[in-house]
Amino acid sequence: MRKIAFGYSTRCNIRCAHCVAADEKSENQKMDLSRAEELIVGLGQANVRGISFTAGEPLLYLDDLCKLLTVCRKHGMYTRVVSNGFWAKTSGSADKYVVQLKESGLSQLRLSYSRWHQEHVAQENILHAAQSCKNNDLEYFVSFVTDFSKEDDFLEDYLRKHTLMFFPEPMILSGRAGAFERFPIRTDYQENCCPMNPYLAPNCDMFACCDAGSHFTNTNFFYLGNCEQDSINHLFEKSENNSLYNHIRRMGISTIASFAGFRAREIVRYRKCELCEKLFNSPDMLDRLRREADSGLASWSR
Ligand code: SF4
Ligand code: SF4
Repeated sequence: MRKIAFGYSTRCNIRCAHCVAADEKSENQKMDLSRAEELIVGLGQANVRGISFTAGEPLLYLDDLCKLLTVCRKHGMYTRVVSNGFWAKTSGSADKYVVQLKESGLSQLRLSYSRWHQEHVAQENILHAAQSCKNNDLEYFVSFVTDFSKEDDFLEDYLRKHTLMFFPEPMILSGRAGAFERFPIRTDYQENCCPMNPYLAPNCDMFACCDAGSHFTNTNFFYLGNCEQDSINHLFEKSENNSLYNHIRRMGISTIASFAGFRAREIVRYRKCELCEKLFNSPDMLDRLRREADSGLASWSR
């Protein structure tokens, strides 16, 4: 099923130290509303069935967003909005937003939550927003972004105490978090496969990875093209037919790193996106992997 992360605007009302959507050089961008509506119609015609409104803070543009959700509903798309919950200071203000989103056809609200977000937004906001979703029968979950340190225990305890639906999301060391100090982790030898949903930026650039992918600027490995010059269907096909992307989806980053010569003990010390960056944001390494994508690499599996 085709899905996409839709960046209507990169503007945000807070400034999280770990934000992957922004770095020190980023400037705010926003799509024109009528262009965004046309693009969503185009996405529907290209058989895209899931759309996630992300990038900056989508609910800074509540009325625009509701118009876009209505277009998505007409095309039978599953819709998700990712928000920091700034608007849910009270149960009443939470209800106002949640009811409007639900009436416009939103399928799921995802609430971002972390020790960086919560420097700017009170924990209670997340609780009000989640409870309003429960009361109004709107699916939600809390995306608990963590670096797995003990410092985050109180955040997790809060979610458990209030029986909120949440999932941990590993913090990605990209964007502003790219400047964070690295400390070694040791994981199991996991595959590190990635579904790789594309990301459409406000300037209509499309990337094959919706998380850290737009930051691989040495190689632009994930850049697919621009929707003003190419059809959406063509850009999706580029993503779906690229051998290396398909290896990331099916074989996983760890196997690719092993093929590239990384020792097993090194592989278990990297976070997934960091390992991905080592492989695909280095022009020499990328050149080698491209040459071997359909030969040596394709047969490097158990
Ligand atoms: S992480 Fe989300 S809420 Fe925080 S600054 Fe970035 S876009 Fe805004
Ligand atoms: S591992 Fe690579 S493809 Fe997957 S989210 Fe990270 S940067 Fe994107």
